[in-house]
Amino acid sequence: MKIGFIGLGNMGGPMAANLARAGHEVTGFDMADVAIDGVAMAASGAEAATGADVVITMLPNGQILRAVADQVLPVMAAGATLVDCSTVDVESARAVAGQAAEKALLFVDAPVSGGIGGAAGGTLTFMAGGSADAFAVADPLFDVMGQKAVHCGAAGAGQSAKICNNMILGVTMVATCEAFALADKLGLDRQKMFDVVSTSSGYSWTMNAYCPAPGVGPQSPADNDYQPGFAAELMLKDLRLSQQAAESADADTPMGQLAQALYAQFVENEGGQGMDFSAMLPRFEKRSRS
Ligand code: NAD
Repeated sequence: MKIGFIGLGNMGGPMAANLARAGHEVTGFDMADVAIDGVAMAASGAEAATGADVVITMLPNGQILRAVADQVLPVMAAGATLVDCSTVDVESARAVAGQAAEKALLFVDAPVSGGIGGAAGGTLTFMAGGSADAFAVADPLFDVMGQKAVHCGAAGAGQSAKICNNMILGVTMVATCEAFALADKLGLDRQKMFDVVSTSSGYSWTMNAYCPAPGVGPQSPADNDYQPGFAAELMLKDLRLSQQAAESADADTPMGQLAQALYAQFVENEGGQGMDFSAMLPRFEKRSRS
């Protein structure tokens, strides 16, 4: 298949390389000067998209996605498919889907879970929104870049699933970290705390698979001085998207709102930028109730 790939950063670079390795003809474009194994580089997004059966985007945010869509949709051949794998706001995904439909193009919003390791290893999970026809075109490519793809519904449903999942993740990480900090102050051994909670009703992915306490549970960024992993500022981005969506859908999400405020404080005022999102634990450790 002829694929145009726009946005070859930490995630997009290895995803494009995996598609090329699987035998697809991949032409890439990035604002930055990058070279990706097996990928021919174009001079612009429009050039990468010209003649492609599928154009994939992996970009920082919705504003940039809309700008790139304005460049590539006019040059895409009728019947071609745009697959956006970035994490963006639901409204941008729906707006680009509408623009694509006007030009008789297919569109899938397909944000991912699995991080940089999943992108490199081809083990991402894709959450997809769009028509059944559009999903059918993209699904074999999801198979190359990932291990699971869920067709969540119409355009925007992939982004909706992603931000709901990450709102749970952010809230749960905060709860896990504050519980560890409380346990410390109560004189409870961290390993005992893990042994109990990981096999009791407080268990969660953040406790069992990504424990924020160093030396406890499976290997996690806590064991590597809280180097990401999943950076706190990316969690803040996703929590902001969840609250933007909650605002527009008039949904009451007090825990998501509080998690957003805590991550904003941590990233913007407390040195959390560049640290893993589980570094909320040392943040809570240093604090008292007042
Ligand atoms: P990144 O900053 O490493 O990559 C983004 C790339 O887009 C950069 O190389 C940048 O130069 C390029 N770019 C920006 N504007 C462009 C334009 N107009 N035209 C062409 N290229 C342009 O970010 P990333 O970590 O690869 O993340 C990409 C997306 O994936 C984001 O939406 C992020 O939220 C999401 N995501 C990231 C992770 C992660 O762990 N990094 C996990 C899941 C989802």
